[in-house]
Amino acid sequence: MSTSSPVRPERVLQNFVNGNWVDIDSISESIVTNPATGAGIAVHPNSSDAAIDAAIDAASEAYETWRMVPVPTRSAMMFRYRQLLFDARDELAAIIVEENGKSTPEALGELLRAIQYVENAAAVTETQKGAVTENVATSVDIEYIKEPLGVFAVIAPFNFPAMIPLYFSWAVATGNTVVLKPSEYCPLTTIRMVELAAEAGIPDGVLNMVLGEKITVERLCDHEAIEGVTFVGSSEVAEIVYRRSTGNSKRCQAQGGAKNNLVVTDTAVLDRCLPNITSSLFGCASQRCFAGSNLLVYRSVYEEFMERFLAAIDDVVMGPGTIEGVGMGPVINAAALAKFTEAIDAAEASGARIIRDGRGATVEGNPEEYQEGHWLGPTLIETDPSNPVWATELFGPVRCITVIDSIDEAIDIINASTYGHSAVIYTERGGLARRFRQSVQTGQVGINVGTPAPIAFYPVGGRKSSFYGALRGRGVDAVDFYTDKKVVVTTWHDTFGGDQAGVDPAFEGTV
Ligand code: NAD
Repeated sequence: MSTSSPVRPERVLQNFVNGNWVDIDSISESIVTNPATGAGIAVHPNSSDAAIDAAIDAASEAYETWRMVPVPTRSAMMFRYRQLLFDARDELAAIIVEENGKSTPEALGELLRAIQYVENAAAVTETQKGAVTENVATSVDIEYIKEPLGVFAVIAPFNFPAMIPLYFSWAVATGNTVVLKPSEYCPLTTIRMVELAAEAGIPDGVLNMVLGEKITVERLCDHEAIEGVTFVGSSEVAEIVYRRSTGNSKRCQAQGGAKNNLVVTDTAVLDRCLPNITSSLFGCASQRCFAGSNLLVYRSVYEEFMERFLAAIDDVVMGPGTIEGVGMGPVINAAALAKFTEAIDAAEASGARIIRDGRGATVEGNPEEYQEGHWLGPTLIETDPSNPVWATELFGPVRCITVIDSIDEAIDIINASTYGHSAVIYTERGGLARRFRQSVQTGQVGINVGTPAPIAFYPVGGRKSSFYGALRGRGVDAVDFYTDKKVVVTTWHDTFGGDQAGVDPAFEGTV
């Protein structure tokens, strides 16, 4: 457990404005740390209003030129960018491991998905097509064009430092410009990806990056030159960002937190499902929005499940992501560790049964190098769903389990949640799975798949406090979010002997 503040590192991070890395006029600073060692990696200055405005101004100026760049040219840049990211995947994975604490295979897995974002954004030649209908009245044609809108802000959380910042790909590919704000805990992956974007030929001012925290986000939500905001993070902040941006007449899509329930029925094929469940609950140190949080297990299989699941948990190797075979890294920082420990303490005090207790866990052999890391072992709590530890998101390896008697009971528990991100069922009965799929109030459903995260070309977003907005992230929803359907109604007076000339009076008179 971390006990001291890290030494101030030499590396001081910069903003990326109009194609240049610039020193930050800052109002305060924090230290980016390696969660496995607690060591400082870089100084993260928090941008002043003037520093943020410089990035917004650059993006505004670049927009007028960028929106006129032919779609195939923008697409080709995305292809180049995709290749550069792919070639740099080992380097990027090493940065993710250092600043986020994931294992190397987890970091490479994230990069695979992240690169698919850019691939899908490159499909803008297809996805940004409009539509035309000829002869909506005599000699009158109607079309819509998916037009870019201007400057978008993209605000990212810490847990996917490559994937989520790359939401900017769709914004840029559709002809908008961007001010990107990475998480203050994991900005280094984003910084390297921004360098690669410049190398790919994305012109100066089209992609800008500012460092900061709460105040920076507020400035982005308030600034009149920002047309829209993409936010991914906790529900609490998602709601704030959504209200603030839309209150300022901006578009906003704000993806929030989750408390994902996994139902294990009596027909679950445990041999196949157990590795999937263990990975869903504890992979990436449970710091995934699709991570399973709560297990609801049919009474008839509860005992067998518990015995085998506890054995699987005990096989999870906790350690630094650089070491081969590690299945679970540290949590992001000392504050998160303290929050999780308090939640376990409170659950215990309330009478919940702590079946596996990760408090005070250390890396095997407790080597000195990792003694200041933020370690919490896999924790499993048997509790009633009315306990706060069941209901509130804990973005770390504190997971709950309860026994249920029917699918109706499971559905009721799931739908009572204030979150609506994903729900999972393990069953071999198609009809039961179908009933589950139709009944749960979540944005994503997994059937024998523990982390049902949509791939880049499918939209992602939850319900209730897990998502604020209408158009989801990724795929065609992203293209629609970053463009406006401008409708054009046309007639021509000179018809060259074809249709009747002039506007059809019946058409003009109808509205
Ligand atoms: P967070 O909400 O603390 O921070 C997200 C971003 O908001 C950061 O850039 C941060 O600087 C900024 N921020 C923090 N507090 C703010 C405030 N009061 N006002 C304005 N901006 C603020 O989230 P996090 O801890 O970085 O990430 C973990 C959370 O993200 C979890 O809740 C997880 O479920 C969620 N998440 C959701 C999805 C999804 O697809 N729905 C994906 C990944 C992560």
